[in-house]
Amino acid sequence: MSFADLGLSPELVQAVTAKGYDTPTPIQAQAIPSVLMMRDLIAIAQTGTGKTASFVLPMIDILAHGRRRAMMPRSLILEPTRELAAQVAENFEAYGKNHDLKMALLIGGVQMGDQVKALNEGVDVLIATPGRLMDLFERGKILLTGCDLLVIDEADRMLDMGFIPDIETICSKL
Ligand code: AMP
Repeated sequence: MSFADLGLSPELVQAVTAKGYDTPTPIQAQAIPSVLMMRDLIAIAQTGTGKTASFVLPMIDILAHGRRRAMMPRSLILEPTRELAAQVAENFEAYGKNHDLKMALLIGGVQMGDQVKALNEGVDVLIATPGRLMDLFERGKILLTGCDLLVIDEADRMLDMGFIPDIETICSKL
């Protein structure tokens, strides 16, 4: 089984090959076709099994078509920690190098100015920790009504960290 067999575009397969991967891991083989069909799914796999690419890759191909709009991200990835958010952003940069996609990272502990500027310029992929996202939402800097894809990464950890009320609020704005 190859990445092309999963239905990913040639541009994306080229970026994956450039990273040195030619065979999808089991979680990628199972998840990618369903995400490409825009199905809802719960995916469970150990750390280190290629889980990140199982949502990043199909998202890139889905978002390749369509237009960015100010303040209205087209997709949202929620992460429990700043470190994980930064890792997912790195994946988007590597795999999305052949695509014209704008990404913004909304995490705490850094100035809001650049984040607000990025939102205003239009974002295809928003990667956020719940606290900072809620903060910007309450300040009226972001609208989630144009968001067609939602990923709740490490959902078990999100539960442990008490993020569920925030996630429920965020989901009610989609
Ligand atoms: P993750 O589980 O998403 O944290 O990924 C763990 C590691 O596996 C990362 O270093 C990825 O770059 C790598 N990886 C992702 N997909 C594959 C693949 N298909 N084959 C080999 N390694 C991969």
